[in-house]
Amino acid sequence: MLEVMNLTKKYGKTIAVDNVGFAVPDGRIGILLGPNGAGKSTVIKSIAGLLKYKGTIRIQGLNSRTMEAKRCFAYVPEMPYMYDALTVREHIEFITRAYGVECTEEELKMLFDRFELTDKQEKLGSELSKGMMQKVSICCALVIKPKVILLDEPMVGLDPAAIRELKTVILDLREKGCTILISTHMLEMVRDLWDATFVMDGGHILGTYVKENVANEDLEELFFSVTGQKAS
Ligand code: ATP
Repeated sequence: MLEVMNLTKKYGKTIAVDNVGFAVPDGRIGILLGPNGAGKSTVIKSIAGLLKYKGTIRIQGLNSRTMEAKRCFAYVPEMPYMYDALTVREHIEFITRAYGVECTEEELKMLFDRFELTDKQEKLGSELSKGMMQKVSICCALVIKPKVILLDEPMVGLDPAAIRELKTVILDLREKGCTILISTHMLEMVRDLWDATFVMDGGHILGTYVKENVANEDLEELFFSVTGQKAS
């Protein structure tokens, strides 16, 4: 279970996230859906421990600020980052060593195949496009076999084949019991993934919807009605 309670984050005088609360049960996919500037990245970065905030965040029942909790989750940032001087393969090896996890050659091959990185594994970070870096960033998150995965706008910058593959990977992870939180401003990207959707705007959660109670095709309309935006 991923639980966010009374989360508030200010940047100077700007209140980016205001008393936000939601929970994603084990083995479910939660979507933070909102327009640009809604506060989605701030929520995800707070969960990932990258920001100081007020409130309580629990990951698998553990206070998210503890080392034990930090070992449970992987975070894929909106802006992928790679060290210029490390190859794709070296990046992944670096992550597995840092987390003390095993990744067999077979698992690595499968990941590279899935994301069409097989012929890119000896390329340096400095030689990769943003989309390729995004794929490597996703692979780095997957190799640590997290119980919870946080994906900040993961589909932005990916080509259609990679988006399709990522959706399959996310559904596989759910099948294995992984808890997943995805932020997005594009409902169509996650339409076939969600178990719960939290609509955010202006730093607030304006609506919480669960799959059992809301038809897929109604979610978009609900999004526009609670955010006051017009469908284009
Ligand atoms: P996007 O989809 O555009 O990434 P978002 O929903 O992820 O948007 P955030 O990036 O969390 O939104 O931003 C929420 C609010 O906080 C916005 O008003 C933004 O301008 C502000 N903000 C975000 N980061 C900072 C920062 N480092 N310093 C000051 N204000 C910030």
